[in-house]
Amino acid sequence: MQPATNPEPQPATSAAASGATANGEGRRGELIRAEGLWRSYPMGSTVVDALRGVDLVIRHNEYVAIMGPSGSGKSTLMNLIGCLDTPTRGQYTLNGHAVAKLDEDELARIRNREIGFVFQTFNLLPRASALRNVELPLIYASVTPQQRRERAQEALRQVDLQDRMDHRPNQLSGGQRQRVSIARALVTKPALLLADEPTGNLDTATSVEIMALFERLHRQGHTIVLVTHERDIAAHAQRIVTIRDGRIEHDEVRAGAGAS
Ligand code: ADP
Ligand code: MG
Repeated sequence: MQPATNPEPQPATSAAASGATANGEGRRGELIRAEGLWRSYPMGSTVVDALRGVDLVIRHNEYVAIMGPSGSGKSTLMNLIGCLDTPTRGQYTLNGHAVAKLDEDELARIRNREIGFVFQTFNLLPRASALRNVELPLIYASVTPQQRRERAQEALRQVDLQDRMDHRPNQLSGGQRQRVSIARALVTKPALLLADEPTGNLDTATSVEIMALFERLHRQGHTIVLVTHERDIAAHAQRIVTIRDGRIEHDEVRAGAGAS
């Protein structure tokens, strides 16, 4: 288990201690770098500034919750992090790709390659088995049917659903459905797992189970960014970034959080 990664550029000693290559490679290990991100929505004769200058660095293997009240800009920021939208102003780099200026096709390509999405509403195909749902993202990659099947089975095993592969979503519990959607996010081996209110449709006990799964995935080396308005859910992460009125209000690395 690595120590919590500090959001600030690391001094060489601490980079060396965490096993990173030290000295003169300030941006090594960064997955996300946002600099001065603005997103403004034109609304009739006025403009809503949903994000007003967000600076954020997230390194590989971090587990970060983005928390804030309704209307604070969480979804807007998630859309930018997830390459679903581009900023009005500012720079965004995802895994070395300068994203801010890309067109739709290029955004889609980076999204498919680098990000696994987990949604509040699961977004599963109702008539397809769990296995088929998890195979789907690989149809767009050049992967043979045999490999698709094997990789989907492996992803379902990662979320402990090896004995539910042939079930359709309506034959699964809410927690199992969310685990299928997490397997679907994992199957492309993305650099980032990006979850938007992943427990928003689940009861408390099931939410705890899903958060335990995210913690396990983090320990296995996955980078996770989770968006939530619930402090209890954010508390599972290793680092909590709080946004308010389109700005980062607080950025806290929690010593010991998520440690095994
Ligand atoms: P959150 O996810 O934290 O609830 P959002 O990012 O959805 O916040 O919204 C931030 C602000 O931007 C809010 O004031 C919201 O009304 C506004 N907003 C969000 N999306 C749009 C849009 N498409 N057009 C106009 N205003 C928007
Ligand atoms: Mg939102």
